[in-house]
Amino acid sequence: MKKIIVQKFGGSSVANVECIKRVAKRVVEYKKKGFHVVVVVSALGGTTDELIELSNCITDNPSDREMDMLLSTGEQISVALLAMAIHSFGFEAISFTGAQVGIITDKSHTKARILEINTIRIKQELDSDRIVIVAGFQGVTLDQHITTLGRGGSDLTAVALAKQLKASECEIYTDVKGIYTTDPRIEPKAVKLDEITYDEMLEMASLGAQVMQARSIEVAKKFDVPIHVRSSFEKDTGTMIIREVKRMEDVVVRGITLNNQEAKVTVCDVPDKPGVAARLFKKLSFNGINVDMIVQNVSHTRRTDISFTVKKTDIPKTKNTLRKFAKSIDTGEVVYDLDIARISIVGVGMKSHHGVAADMFDSLAKNKINIEMISTSDISISCIISKKSANKAIRALHKKFQLINN
Ligand code: ADP
Ligand code: ASP
Ligand code: MG
Repeated sequence: MKKIIVQKFGGSSVANVECIKRVAKRVVEYKKKGFHVVVVVSALGGTTDELIELSNCITDNPSDREMDMLLSTGEQISVALLAMAIHSFGFEAISFTGAQVGIITDKSHTKARILEINTIRIKQELDSDRIVIVAGFQGVTLDQHITTLGRGGSDLTAVALAKQLKASECEIYTDVKGIYTTDPRIEPKAVKLDEITYDEMLEMASLGAQVMQARSIEVAKKFDVPIHVRSSFEKDTGTMIIREVKRMEDVVVRGITLNNQEAKVTVCDVPDKPGVAARLFKKLSFNGINVDMIVQNVSHTRRTDISFTVKKTDIPKTKNTLRKFAKSIDTGEVVYDLDIARISIVGVGMKSHHGVAADMFDSLAKNKINIEMISTSDISISCIISKKSANKAIRALHKKFQLINN
């Protein structure tokens, strides 16, 4: 029986006609090697953002269902073009939408969860010796509404298909050579890692390393799907994302991430008495606003400031929510700061080392970078700093933790 390989090509890998032809060539090579090939494709680079901008020109409050209908069209263009490119090399290929290949999701539009994948159609096509091309990032509910899987969701489509088809390999092709110690576009001295654990990759992805969608890593970890992240522009081996990396000792810091998608909200002069914070955060949650870091100042006057971070895209909703509510709980003004960045260091070795936070703060201090908020997990430490210092902070921390050749 032929082995199945799932290959996912991100937006940057299919940005234009030349790129699509290059991808087609690559796919055909694997077909010639004797694999059954299933290809997952993202929308042409920048298309999803352009579609979002288009919707913004119509309304600032689009329906989530229609948003999914709109965004899913991006991937429909790229699958068809790739199929045509493969045909032009003399190979058989057929493109499908998520709905056509039975990617069934729940009803949570714009961030839907995959419930099941019916692989009959894909298997039939593979048995007919065709290359199967699937639109990433999309699915369909049981009652036939098109859904999308959250930004970067083609990674999730690929991992879920690899699991369901029992593929021997799951390759994620992108515009860098693999997973680096930090974003190589910010720190050119970043080092490509040969391997990284699911836990570290999940933490890095959740904290802003855009290279893999966090939810796709959750699924890969749950079902033990090894992932090979590599460049679509070069042949070199990339980075394996796997369960365990066998080393004598874990390195303390594996990677550094930057997230500049968050904003800081400060509610000033909040009455310092039981129940006020509960009411504030209940109200935000009721309006669908996800709060991340929270800091409450010590009160000396029975009034205090509460700061928290939310996604920048949730700022209009947050303003609407707090406009009346802040008055109802008798607070002072509400201040919004969109020019912040979250810098995080990540590594499983942190569990067994102390002094890591002190080293991080020391390095930021020496570079005159002020820390506005701090949060930690088992394997990460994050600081909110001003956006203008973000790149400097990354480079300083990269040097401090000697992220070279680990
Ligand atoms: P694709 O279009 O292939 O899905 P993405 O733009 O989603 O690609 O992700 C690739 C980008 O992720 C890279 O161009 C790089 O700038 C960024 N990135 C951020 N952190 C890292 C990291 N630690 N290692 C590699 N790339 C990273
Ligand atoms: N096109 C979608 C996005 O830009 C999905 C993806 O690229 O994975 O988020
Ligand atoms: Mg991506």
